[in-house]
Amino acid sequence: MNILVINCGSSSLKFQLINSDTEAVLAKGLCERIGIDGEFTYQPEGGEKEKGPKAMPTHTEAIQYVIDALTNEKTGVVKSLDEIDAVGHRVVHGGEKFASSAVITDEMLKAVEECNDLAPLHNPANLIGIAACQKLMPGTPMVGVFDTAFHQTMPKKAFMYGLPYDYYEKYGVRRYGFHGTSHSFVSKRAAEFLGKDVKNTKTIVCHLGNGASISAVLNGESVDTSMGLTPLEGLVMGTRSGDIDPAIMEYISKKENLDIDGVMNVLNKKSGVFGLSGEVSSDFRDLAAAAEKGNDKAQLALDVFAYKVAKYIGSYMVAMNGVDNIVFTAGIGENSGFVRSAVCEYLTFMGIEIDEEKNSKRGEEVVISTPDSKITVLVIPTNEELAIARETEALVK
Ligand code: ADP
Repeated sequence: MNILVINCGSSSLKFQLINSDTEAVLAKGLCERIGIDGEFTYQPEGGEKEKGPKAMPTHTEAIQYVIDALTNEKTGVVKSLDEIDAVGHRVVHGGEKFASSAVITDEMLKAVEECNDLAPLHNPANLIGIAACQKLMPGTPMVGVFDTAFHQTMPKKAFMYGLPYDYYEKYGVRRYGFHGTSHSFVSKRAAEFLGKDVKNTKTIVCHLGNGASISAVLNGESVDTSMGLTPLEGLVMGTRSGDIDPAIMEYISKKENLDIDGVMNVLNKKSGVFGLSGEVSSDFRDLAAAAEKGNDKAQLALDVFAYKVAKYIGSYMVAMNGVDNIVFTAGIGENSGFVRSAVCEYLTFMGIEIDEEKNSKRGEEVVISTPDSKITVLVIPTNEELAIARETEALVK
């Protein structure tokens, strides 16, 4: 089956066409600056990357370019739309309505719309992408794959905040967690890679990218995760603060004369390692280079990041009464041996030992702990697009 995977934001749209039998990526690309001017990037498997301006007033034009590129006589990878068997859409928030992926129907879209308040920046954009695809590919089955679904197995004691119970019942205020597609994919793949049964394994997945979250996966089910009602909770991230004393919001709002939107903007866009480093960068490569040159704040940002990851790992060992595997994934988790090593330094008391030669590898599946290590530490590159294609195939077959 050929499955088109769509990840739609408010002004951008990423896509991949995946053959689900071979799991090969036939083509991939990106529409950017939708609603502004428009830029289109396309690359067929083994072919040249094309990038250039294309007018994209709405997501419908963007999807039309995707279809045109995929079916183009010279650089396309399929002859016609008929060869695209299904579309898998990433949807950020499924609230409590979706504990798994779902075939897109009118009723399903209504349920997603009801979750819009919980993810006002993401869900409406996801819905626009789905509508644009439905318009141009009316006969093609489509599936929604939710970032929150995998974490719906969390027990109530893990997902409730210490707030008036009413807020949960009236407004759905609770912890949902995100990056679920990645946590699910990586925890399963780690078990498979190690020849273990995921249904009988305690795994901690550290998804460390620009957005970062950790999950405790007990026998294949998420029992806790670091993001909450929104993706702002938890770890210190690229530009997001992660956990803070909530009273800081009032304090900063008074001192800096900011309204609630202004404070939220600081917490989402000006904080994390970017803010901590004195705005050196949100990118770990830049931070490592600056720290190397003696920039104390860049070093501090790296130290705070690793310390927080280690503390979450500790708390998830408690949540599961132990751990068998700790897995690193996403941009930083897959590439930064430095961060992995710094995190594991805090865990030597548990009998964790890292083989620094193996830890110097980047972007590949590798066990980085020594054979004597009491807990297996490994790197598993995430592949959210492939996970979405698999989920889509399973539902439309
Ligand atoms: P997201 O999908 O959340 O945008 P990614 O998972 O793509 O993020 O991760 C992006 C981050 O990965 C970058 O901001 C950068 O900090 C980090 N990263 C990428 N490559 C490297 C590398 N070679 N060394 C250290 N960090 C890296």
